[in-house]
Amino acid sequence: VFTLFTIGIMDAQKKSYLDKNKPVEERIDLLMKQMTLEEKVGQMNQYNGFWDVTGPAPKGGNAELKYEHLRKGWVGSMLTVRGVKEVRAVQKIAVEETRLGIPLIIGFDVIHGYKTLSPIPLAEAASWDMQAIKKSASIAADEASASGINWTFGPNVDISNDARWGRVMEGAGEDPYLGSKVAIARVTGFQGDTKEDLSKVNTIAACAKHFAAYGFAESGRDYNTVDMSISKLYNTVLPPFKAATEAGVRTFMNSFNILNGVPATGNSFLQRDILKGKWKFDGFIVSDWASVREMIAHGYAKDGADATQKAVTAGSDMDMESYLYVTELAKLVKDGKVKEALVDDAVRRILRVKFELGLFDDPYKYCDEKREKATIGNKANNDGVLDMAKKSIVLLKNDNNLLPLKKSGQKIALIGALANDKNSPLGSWRIASDDNTAVSVLEGMQQYKDNQLTFEKGADLTVGKTTFLDEVVFNTTDKSGFEAAKKAAKNADVVVMVLGEHGFQSGEGRSRTNLDLPGLQQELLEEIYKVNSNIVLVLNNGRPLSIPWAAEHIPTIVEAWHLGTQTGNAVAQVLYGDYNPSGKLPISFPRNIGQVPIYYNNYSTGRPVNSDKNVFWSHYTDVEKTPLYPFGFGLSYTTFEYKNLKVNKAVFIKNEPVNVMVEVTNTGNYDGKEVAQLYIHDDFASIARPVKELKGFELLDLKKGETKIVTFTLSQKELGFYDNEGNYLVEAGTFKIMVGGSSDKGLESGFELK
Ligand code: BGC
Repeated sequence: VFTLFTIGIMDAQKKSYLDKNKPVEERIDLLMKQMTLEEKVGQMNQYNGFWDVTGPAPKGGNAELKYEHLRKGWVGSMLTVRGVKEVRAVQKIAVEETRLGIPLIIGFDVIHGYKTLSPIPLAEAASWDMQAIKKSASIAADEASASGINWTFGPNVDISNDARWGRVMEGAGEDPYLGSKVAIARVTGFQGDTKEDLSKVNTIAACAKHFAAYGFAESGRDYNTVDMSISKLYNTVLPPFKAATEAGVRTFMNSFNILNGVPATGNSFLQRDILKGKWKFDGFIVSDWASVREMIAHGYAKDGADATQKAVTAGSDMDMESYLYVTELAKLVKDGKVKEALVDDAVRRILRVKFELGLFDDPYKYCDEKREKATIGNKANNDGVLDMAKKSIVLLKNDNNLLPLKKSGQKIALIGALANDKNSPLGSWRIASDDNTAVSVLEGMQQYKDNQLTFEKGADLTVGKTTFLDEVVFNTTDKSGFEAAKKAAKNADVVVMVLGEHGFQSGEGRSRTNLDLPGLQQELLEEIYKVNSNIVLVLNNGRPLSIPWAAEHIPTIVEAWHLGTQTGNAVAQVLYGDYNPSGKLPISFPRNIGQVPIYYNNYSTGRPVNSDKNVFWSHYTDVEKTPLYPFGFGLSYTTFEYKNLKVNKAVFIKNEPVNVMVEVTNTGNYDGKEVAQLYIHDDFASIARPVKELKGFELLDLKKGETKIVTFTLSQKELGFYDNEGNYLVEAGTFKIMVGGSSDKGLESGFELK
């Protein structure tokens, strides 16, 4: 493989940067000394390869230009090139045909798996199981790297509490503490635990995105404006990004949105002051898709040259698909409008990651057809995503103990078009996966052969074509299947209904102003309920839904999100009790859309109505102000009791850690898992603090009857907050604590910081 580097090389000196024994920074110096300005700018240019790059460029588009630039050494990275054959084709041009032979870094949106899909990221967060989430990311890295890819545009660490926003499915929900833990799990799952791990053949560079505040788009409409206080930015939005940085994430992606009047892509405060300054991030920042050019549309840049100048000056190192750096930047440097030192800094960062990945040592290291064949879709990966899928399911209601289902002698009616859907459960973001590759719920349920299973769709969910980029068109008229479904329900002991959102209803650009069950599903549910109320409702969705009618009438509700390739097996195993559900919601479910945004870590509104300080006058006249299902909530087939909450001291002096202990007992009839959650409230501070903030959680495995004592250790550093200047303060005062199995109730205690 290395012969291509050695054959025909006249001057060994020139290739000295290939010497593995030299430190990376020295290798970068040696290489950069030889680079022309145009070649440097080329490293900062990224092109999409959304065609078969092994063949000729399609006519009429930009592909021909891309090939030409690639040959000149004006392309540093490509995205959406997939499969060893394609990657090898473009890498070969970069390495063998350009003057310096600098390898490309190949990026791809590996969001919840590559071909073998895990649950959507929001679902995974519901597991609160960091080992499982890390494993899921490592499976994704394993498959993607086997397919030639060395960099994923993930994890998405955007905090969001707006269920209207379609991209809530891509994040870890509403809470910065949980979001930070999940960010760490995903970054280390993709990249490995250490910098050295990055050069392994089965790890890929991760990318924390979208920097920043993208999840707070006004009214939940994707790409919309964000206006936010600095303290909220620091306390709510930035923690997962900071955690990702500390976990060693090698790249960042900025975002489409304007933040307080300045587009994130041109935002020096975010990229230079915070990320590269305060946090000392030494990887590189890629723009979001054409977001450099979009600064013109935002009214923040006059033209392409101005946009380039602003983006580079603000610290955006790589231009994804704006075609601007490649055309404008060299001239801006020559005209003295952008300092060459800024270009050098960006190039150094990009080359650093390429060196760390080992691409200079073997540019074809990810191009191994044998490994590709053996890895993608193999049994171990399918077992891994099945495990993750089971852990992501949240039991929301089980009033009559319909669950777990009895394994024999039962007549089960399975109803709903989604139950027989092999595509929708794959969820949004699955570019490399083939359509219709999920195990459907029907197929999963069919594995349990000692019951009599009847399937009726009731009504089609969608009409017409629903490809990835098409909008979903719902069936709102054809009820011809209702009667057969009602008949099946009438004859059944238990009805399992699979209802919810289509997999294409969430994701990028897919905001909703309704959080209900689309199409005819609500009507079908009510019709079936009239003939048999023994209903287990299995929800499929990429965001919180508001289902007040179902919550009131349907005895059993299971939140099954979009669970990926192994959906049907996971759902069936949970319904039949082969896995006792243990998930907890990572985001609040509203009673209706008017409550949105609704989140547990809100602020006191003042105006208490009675001496109990927790009851406030701020309310709605038409609906309770609490969510339908709160953050942290989730049931099990067994029950858990919390007792003897203790704090090791009443008063703490500076730097003393706070130890909180509680006893948790499995008081029910099944072995099970419980997520014990610790919340704090700072009673009084120089900036008002939320009514509750998650500060710790522990995933407990408890046998029937077993008790465990959980100890949470809070360092005093975790008790502070950021003020409006971005200073982190830990202030003396009194704190309440609450420990329980959900954010809305638990045992309470408190302590004082002197
Ligand atoms: C999305 C990013 C994604 C990029 C590349 C953009 O539209 O916002 O999250 O990584 O496209 O596909």
